Amino acid sequence: MPVTRSALARRAARSAMEFAIDYVKKRRAFGSKIGDFQAIQFKIAEMFQKVETARLLIWKAAWEADQGLDPNISASVSKLYATEAAYEVVDQALQIMGGYGYTRFFPVEKLLRDTRLFRIYEGTSEVQRIVLAGHALHQYQPVMPPLEDLPVHIKRDNPEACPQPGQTAWRCRMCGYVHFDDQPPDECPYCFFPAAAFKQVPPS
Ligand SMILES: Cc1cc2nc3c(=O)[nH]c(=O)nc-3n(C[C@H](O)[C@H](O)[C@H](O)COP(=O)(O)OP(=O)(O)OC[C@H]3O[C@@H](n4cnc5c(N)ncnc54)[C@H](O)[C@@H]3O)c2cc1C
Repeated sequence: MPVTRSALARRAARSAMEFAIDYVKKRRAFGSKIGDFQAIQFKIAEMFQKVETARLLIWKAAWEADQGLDPNISASVSKLYATEAAYEVVDQALQIMGGYGYTRFFPVEKLLRDTRLFRIYEGTSEVQRIVLAGHALHQYQPVMPPLEDLPVHIKRDNPEACPQPGQTAWRCRMCGYVHFDDQPPDECPYCFFPAAAFKQVPPS
């Protein structure tokens, strides 16, 4: 199951982050520990955020599987995020450790090679994107109404953009232009789609 690979990738990232944190507390440059430099602290913050986000996504997929729910989408989200984030985290850890990070004196260079694999096997990152795009476009149930059904935002400081009494608002479903009149225009003045592209805007 891809979520197993997500968990492995996250553990590799967590290990690299911990090695980097240990290193920045000891390594000195320009008279300070490098962990005192804000540029280094920001890298640590980004790494920590990615490790924790991956952890939550993995837990969600595992929880869904434990509950007997379909975990496929959550597993795909966690595989894509955790494996890509893990590579970024380990890469940053190596960067923080400088030349030593690149050598075999420390295990980070091996973690970088290992985490590169997670984006390939048990469903490449591209395949996860195909799965998620298919879900988002065809199965996902939106919370928001369609754009064409949104009420018109009345610009009270611009009388021309306000309906006059008795006028109806028509919105072009292609570009969003709003026309105030009894009837829609013959064509949209912005995108030139014909009157059929206009839909009456529900009263706000
Ligand atoms: C170390 C290692 C261990 C492995 N262990 C196992 C194992 O235990 N069991 C097992 O079954 N397999 C295993 N594999 C195989 C692994 O699952 C495949 O390498 C992986 O699925 C990618 O397939 P491929 O190498 O044939 O690449 P290809 O399918 O040739 O893909 C090449 C590239 O094209 C992209 N691509 C392909 N199709 C599309 C598309 N429609 N749209 C966009 N991009 C696309 C891919 O994402 C990839 O980036 C292992 C691989 C490695 C490297």
